[in-house]
Amino acid sequence: MIYIHIPFCKQACHYCDFHFSTNLKQKQAFLFALEKEIELRNHFFESTKPLKTIYFGGGTPSILEVSELENILDKLKSTFEIDENAEITLEANPDDLTSLEFLKDLRKIGFNRLSIGIQSFEESFLKFMNRAHNAEEAQNCVRLAQKAGFENISIDLIYGVQLPKNNSEKQSDVLKSNPHSFWKKDLEFALALDVPHISAYCLTIEPKTPFGNYLKRGKLKPIDEEFAAQQFEILTQTLKENGYLHYEISNFAKPNQFSKHNTAYWQDEPYLGLGASAHSYDGQHRFMNAANNRKYVESLEKNTLPQIIDELSENDRINEYFLTSLRTIWGIDIHHLIKKYNYNLLENQSETISKLTKNQMIELKNDKIVLTEKGKLFADGIAADFFV
Ligand code: SF4
Repeated sequence: MIYIHIPFCKQACHYCDFHFSTNLKQKQAFLFALEKEIELRNHFFESTKPLKTIYFGGGTPSILEVSELENILDKLKSTFEIDENAEITLEANPDDLTSLEFLKDLRKIGFNRLSIGIQSFEESFLKFMNRAHNAEEAQNCVRLAQKAGFENISIDLIYGVQLPKNNSEKQSDVLKSNPHSFWKKDLEFALALDVPHISAYCLTIEPKTPFGNYLKRGKLKPIDEEFAAQQFEILTQTLKENGYLHYEISNFAKPNQFSKHNTAYWQDEPYLGLGASAHSYDGQHRFMNAANNRKYVESLEKNTLPQIIDELSENDRINEYFLTSLRTIWGIDIHHLIKKYNYNLLENQSETISKLTKNQMIELKNDKIVLTEKGKLFADGIAADFFV
């Protein structure tokens, strides 16, 4: 599988700590460098099996012109063997999906899946997070994408959001009587769009973001963990009742509509990441591209890959597997660990397993360790309990 990071956005969302730039001056130089990187990485995959997924993420890939996206896809197709039924996803923001023609063109050049960064249908939340789109665009873009023929659509939502006190009194009154009313409404809107896949993330406040800065200056309250946990419960309950499978902590899908790309990540498969800040994994090493557009471009101008290579020890890889697999419905596969790493989890960690089982955090089912509903609130901490 291949991931491509397009490191440009129209404006900076207040919570975001991904790598992106709002300065588009370097776009052409970046696209040129990306093409060079694709050439230099042509021997990355040892296996000759056709690749099953391509994912354009960012940043905001939908900021690119159709012709620019097409050039990248063409370059990938001429460099790697791509399965004819490959899942090809474009991450897109609602404000870029306002024309039926653009959406139809995306399909024509090969995209068969959209992952749309809606985040919320509530205007005040969108403004608070400094999203570039409004509530109307959030609603319309999905309908328009469906009209253009996209069936495989995922939308992203954010929960755990609490507006600061200075918002309108009317709104404060609504929230006082029902603090989860906006979240419930967001879920209602999402369900009405009848998309096969929903990703929902809890708002986090990262230090090097505008929200991090507001928090430091006392202009923003920290995330209320209890409040966020209640919203997570509303989320899982509502989506379950409406036929979605909760197949990863933050991901829900109708049957057979899982994201193939993300599933491959969680199942320990190699991946190639292209573009500034992208990471790759070949089963032994992690390769990390420079998270700086200028450095990325300059390095490729000299025909040098802009990467740092991290040799992963066997323990690193096992720990990484705990972190990712435990978040999914497939859980930690005892046989996978024995086969791939000669590591017998049941023998080596019997005490941890019985402690976590007793505390109703995990269950052992068919030689797989999976999180309970309660455990899902503490996934990363539980994975850390297993670290070797
Ligand atoms: S559009 Fe996405 S990548 Fe860009 S700033 Fe907002 S959250 Fe971050």
